[in-house]
Amino acid sequence: MDLLNTLVDKGLRREVPTREEALAVLATSDDDLLDVVAAAGKVRRHWFGRRVKLNYLVNLKSGLCPEDCSYCSQRLGSTAGILKYTWLKPNEASEAAAAGLAGGAKRVCLVASGRGPTDRDVDRVSDTIKAIKEQNEGVEVCACLGLLSDGQAERLREAGADAYNHNLNTSEATYGDITTTHTYADRVDTVQKAHAAGLSACSGLIAGMGESDEDLVDVVFSLRELDPDSVPVNFLIPFEGTPLGQEWNLTPQRCLRILAMVRFVCPDVEVRIAGGREVHLRTLQPLALHLANSIFLGDYLTSEGQAGKADLEMIADAGFEVEGAGEVTLPEHRVTAGGGCGTHEGAGCGSHSGGGCGSHEDAGCGSHEGGGVCGSAVAAAPAAQVNEARTDLVAVRRRGAGTDLAPNA
Ligand code: SF4
Repeated sequence: MDLLNTLVDKGLRREVPTREEALAVLATSDDDLLDVVAAAGKVRRHWFGRRVKLNYLVNLKSGLCPEDCSYCSQRLGSTAGILKYTWLKPNEASEAAAAGLAGGAKRVCLVASGRGPTDRDVDRVSDTIKAIKEQNEGVEVCACLGLLSDGQAERLREAGADAYNHNLNTSEATYGDITTTHTYADRVDTVQKAHAAGLSACSGLIAGMGESDEDLVDVVFSLRELDPDSVPVNFLIPFEGTPLGQEWNLTPQRCLRILAMVRFVCPDVEVRIAGGREVHLRTLQPLALHLANSIFLGDYLTSEGQAGKADLEMIADAGFEVEGAGEVTLPEHRVTAGGGCGTHEGAGCGSHSGGGCGSHEDAGCGSHEGGGVCGSAVAAAPAAQVNEARTDLVAVRRRGAGTDLAPNA
């Protein structure tokens, strides 16, 4: 297919595709799906080989948020039966992190619900970062604490944070449909603050909120502009008790097309499959490893993932290998260009921008949840795209941080 040959050539050169080409990937048919995966897989292997980076989430503070992000089980008014607790102590967070690192993770993502941290919160998280780094040499730490005020990114960097996550989540045009208590511009500002402080920026999206293909392409092109080092891709987990609890819009095939599109637009960036991996990709998860080079190990913020051991087996069975602590994640041109774990270059979506605790979804530290934008159904959606509700696959997290039970790692 000419489209795919063109996209592979551009991806190997870090050249941005056109919007039409990105939209065409999302509109491909199921007959072409394996060709799409193979093409994007060439770009993934060129920049990241067969390595899979494992990240581990520690939810420092769960629920009780005053913001109204529609996708989030921790939002104001959510009746989802999630764990609710206030700040973990540094030693508690460090213990949780150690479990993930022992399971093979090289980055720990420290996430807290809320609009953004107070200066006292930044002190607490700084103590936690120091405790984790003292006990685990070489660990990467990403903070995801919401909107940052002036000077807070610098303080986190001084405390030893390597990265900051704040997700854009969806297109600027539809942002107001999912959240009213802060704006898209607020999110961009925080990503830019993290970047300016020398933190490796992590910023991503949530798919499946009812957005159009155009919205998805818009947000991914905006991310390329912001140039984060890592882009978490969340697939909405429609929690009962949230406004988007009925938005079951994704199929495994659709998820693969979305990941392929993100890889073509952001070829040399750490693309991470975040929340909703098990719920929406289901048995096609191994194919997604040909597109993304990073996943979360074990559980998410408020929901349970598959067993950490199953994650490791899946990676090995699919012919990939877990990235070691001594290996550099990003391609050399990004590492030499920037600070933090990534690089801030100028071109390409490879360097620091925004995705951590931007939205606290359930996936990753970017959006603290998994949910979706109320939008319009995808215009070019194949007939098979409307998926049945799989509430049987959504399990609220009942173990690990904030409980007396061992974490899943
Ligand atoms: S995504 Fe973050 S800011 Fe929004 S409601 Fe959830 S915890 Fe609060």
